[in-house]
Amino acid sequence: MTNATRNEQRAAPGLTGWWWIPSAVVILALLVLLVFPAEIDRRAGALREEVTAGEHARTALNDFEAALATELLLRTGEPAGVKHTPADSLDSDLFELRKALHRIDGEGLVRYDSLSSLLDTWRASVREGDPSARRHGLELISSAETLDSYLARYVDDRRVKTMALARYYLAVPAILAPIAVLAMLLSTWMARRMQQLARVAEAERAEVVRTSESRAALLRGVTHDVKNPLGAASGYAQLLEEGIVGPLDPKQTEMVKRIRHLLTTSIQTVTDLLELARADGTLHIEYAVTDLAHAVAEVVDDHRGMASEHGLTIDVAPADGQVEVKTDPLRVRQVLGNLLTNAVKYTPSGGHVGASIVRQNGRIGVAIDDTGPGIPRDLERKVFEEFFRVRGEATGSGNGLGLAISRRIARLLGGDVTYRRNEGPGSIFTLWLPYDRR
Ligand code: ADP
Repeated sequence: MTNATRNEQRAAPGLTGWWWIPSAVVILALLVLLVFPAEIDRRAGALREEVTAGEHARTALNDFEAALATELLLRTGEPAGVKHTPADSLDSDLFELRKALHRIDGEGLVRYDSLSSLLDTWRASVREGDPSARRHGLELISSAETLDSYLARYVDDRRVKTMALARYYLAVPAILAPIAVLAMLLSTWMARRMQQLARVAEAERAEVVRTSESRAALLRGVTHDVKNPLGAASGYAQLLEEGIVGPLDPKQTEMVKRIRHLLTTSIQTVTDLLELARADGTLHIEYAVTDLAHAVAEVVDDHRGMASEHGLTIDVAPADGQVEVKTDPLRVRQVLGNLLTNAVKYTPSGGHVGASIVRQNGRIGVAIDDTGPGIPRDLERKVFEEFFRVRGEATGSGNGLGLAISRRIARLLGGDVTYRRNEGPGSIFTLWLPYDRR
């Protein structure tokens, strides 16, 4: 995989997480561009109506003021106490005023009511020939002027608002249109980028398939071209050793024995290498609810013969009842077998090998302890490396692959294999398994 590909992969999660933002901005901008002018039109229409109504109201009020001024002028100079009936034209102006005020806000109507009641007072005083009629008339004019200046402010205010709306009408599309264009460009770029990443992912998938196919082909090739011929050669050597094709003298028998031993070791190494390659990915794992205590007892039993041949005692610490774990029992036995074989192989005669079930931090483990030489502290970390052998033991006793294979299998099962020094001399290798997989 190239560095560029890796970098692209690193960028991918961020990019794919935010892909929708530019599209959302485009949709939002389009929605605003669609809804905003209509809304502005609606508001501007309402404001224009208010301006018209305000103007109507002012016209009616001006007519009213003119008629009132005429009335007051006519009455000027009349001696106090002269009874008179004011003109009815004032009423028709007031009616027009009220109609117009109904189309604007409430404050105008409140001022209208005070004007109307002042008019009634003035009229009553004129009819009665009350000397304060003149004063009431002047109050009436002042109230009409106050209403007029209120209406002038009202109309101006509505005009200013209408002009501001017109500015929005131009400004909002001018701002939103470039944003929408930018977002569209960004989403096009992102779409292209995602296509690129999809191509990279597809290429990688194909690479993984190719790699696993070539690994499978390699495994088949090694099995066919190396392991099988070695097996056949070992079979022929056995025929020779058993004298089936004619008797051998002791020297020849000794040499054939050595050949067989070397072949057996080589076959074991090839078998281990194949296992290691499988443990890197193609190893089939079949989970089943497994009684761990039972599995441990069985594997230990399998090693009793080997242990007594080496002059060792071997035992299993009793478990408290069944210990059920969901795991692959065959793989568990394989790993435990490796650990037990090592313990027996590397512990000097007269020693002891033990197996026990241990629990720690939600994990369950099987510890294989022995009274052997242990692993020197500075080599503890290397002991799980391929082909690593602590003491460079004689060829034939192992190939340094057993622990590497065991750890990989354990990790495939969701666990691990760890080492710690035994108190007193010796080793404790523990196969850990996740306990919640039951
Ligand atoms: P091998 O096939 O050589 O046993 P392993 O990977 O199983 O390969 O072990 C690697 C090395 O670790 C061994 O060569 C041995 O030196 C050391 N070793 C493993 N298990 C033990 C043990 N129980 N006691 C002492 N040394 C051990």
